[in-house]
Amino acid sequence: MPSRKFADGEVVRGRWPGSSLYYEVEILSHDSKSQLYTVKYKDGTELELKESDIKKPFGNSISRYNGEPERTERNDMPPKTPQEKFHLSEESSYISTQYSLRPRGEENKLKEIEFQEEKVVTKGPTSLRTFEVPAVQTKDLDFGGVPGVFLIVLGLPAFLFLLLLMCKQKEPSLLNFPPPLPALNDLWETRVFGVYLLWFFVQALFYLLPIGRVVEGTPLADGRRLKYRLNGFYAFLLTSAAVGAALSWGVDLHYVYQHFLQLALAALVFSVALSVYLYVRARRAPPGQLSPASSGNVIYDFFIGRELNPRIGTFDLKYFCELRPGLMGWVVINLAMLLAEMKSQNRATPSLAMILVNSFQFLYVVDALWNEEAVLTTMDITHEGFGFMLAFGDLVWVPFIYSLQAFYLVSHPHEVSWLAASFMVALKVCGYVIFRCANAQKNAFRKNPTDPRLAHLKTIHTSTGKNLLVSGWWGLVRHPNYLGDLIMALAWSLPCGFNHILPYFYVIYFTLLLVHREMRDERHCRKKYGVAWDRYCQRVPYRILPYVY
Ligand code: NDP
Repeated sequence: MPSRKFADGEVVRGRWPGSSLYYEVEILSHDSKSQLYTVKYKDGTELELKESDIKKPFGNSISRYNGEPERTERNDMPPKTPQEKFHLSEESSYISTQYSLRPRGEENKLKEIEFQEEKVVTKGPTSLRTFEVPAVQTKDLDFGGVPGVFLIVLGLPAFLFLLLLMCKQKEPSLLNFPPPLPALNDLWETRVFGVYLLWFFVQALFYLLPIGRVVEGTPLADGRRLKYRLNGFYAFLLTSAAVGAALSWGVDLHYVYQHFLQLALAALVFSVALSVYLYVRARRAPPGQLSPASSGNVIYDFFIGRELNPRIGTFDLKYFCELRPGLMGWVVINLAMLLAEMKSQNRATPSLAMILVNSFQFLYVVDALWNEEAVLTTMDITHEGFGFMLAFGDLVWVPFIYSLQAFYLVSHPHEVSWLAASFMVALKVCGYVIFRCANAQKNAFRKNPTDPRLAHLKTIHTSTGKNLLVSGWWGLVRHPNYLGDLIMALAWSLPCGFNHILPYFYVIYFTLLLVHREMRDERHCRKKYGVAWDRYCQRVPYRILPYVY
């Protein structure tokens, strides 16, 4: 029978998974089958550790050790030497397969997903390393698991077309439901698909231009930091110049309005093809490059994305799609709707409602591109894989659904008084200030926690080496950035009046999305930070919609 080195109740030092930090832990029990020790950290987090990740206290006396890390290295620091890099790399691969990072009390909340026993051999700098993926892994599956994502993949595109068709109707009421469906022939035009491809590849070309700063992303599980070029704003300027030149040469943007559904279908076909490509190439991706959200199930991973940062050379597909073809496409679509409104309503100038919608959303896009670096710390980049969810979301949902208010106003004119417009502008500014300041504060803190400009903020220490803000914007409410975003969403819809719920679809959908996203993020953070996260929740009990969930 294999012997054990540490006894129950003994106070020793245990490594925190994902880092090379050791903390004071108490041995709770030992499983002779798996050879894993269950240990309890000072903050109450219970984890299972291998014997090799446990050390005796300094000088065989715990009195010299006060629970602070042996090395004050931040978990998000890049490795300094190739040896250390290798060490971290090996360790993190092990973590993803062996450690349970969640408090053990949460076991019963998890669903199980079957995995094929898999043995992966990759070349390390000094030797061949072998990672064993256990036959069964437990995973939290978001979005209702496999059946949920299956329905989303099929249902969301259909829903998108339903909304667009309803928006085109003169009287989009329940009496006229469902709207007349167009023949498939009317939905597909190869030329329109060509126009879409041209748009996408011109954006890709702009992305490749060697202008703009190159920055590092957040550290990956193996300690590496990928490099990203920040030239989204330049790409936007070039796009604006190109669209301006096209208009002056007589290109009619009315084409976008006339072929709106066909363009949406072209984008959908492209996003599905891209998702298939992403899934197929991810089958060959090494385990260390998989998204923490991936599960091993084909349908689920097709949706959530299997590979975290798929790249072709230095071309980062997820980062590119996140802010460029869809987001800039949204602005061009809004402009096309503005021109279409003038044409179809015989107006010399656009309506005030259309100007408000266009300028509010223009500001949102320009802000995102101006602060492009901030996208590197968002969940989309750090946690989600690149699959159908983001490909469809970035390339189809954002440009064709977020422009719904402008699309609606083309055939449903609404006059807005100057007083009402002032209120809407005030609402937009209020939401924007909350959204921008909250995001900026968190980004600055994550980039440099010792930034003197943030010295006045209170923080909670967590065992991972990263701290949590408990004052400033993040001390008022959890996810203040979501709150600001929601207030802005309302300001975008109000110019369309109250005759129909369609222009409010965005606010309703966005509320559901952000509430769900906040719940997901809370779950991830509780796993990551254990009891420190609970302490944060006690200090900051307010959530964006406190009475809803
Ligand atoms: P966040 O930018 O809010 O990132 C969440 C992460 O922030 C957490 O995982 C945690 O990561 C960190 N964090 C949470 N609380 C604290 C704290 N108290 N102190 C320090 N760090 C903390 O989430 P998203 O990526 O979802 O959103 C980014 C922006 O994008 C938001 O403004 C959102 O509204 C917007 N958005 C817009 C969408 C749209 O369609 N228009 C869709 C989705 C988002 P860690 O601790 O690891 O750093």
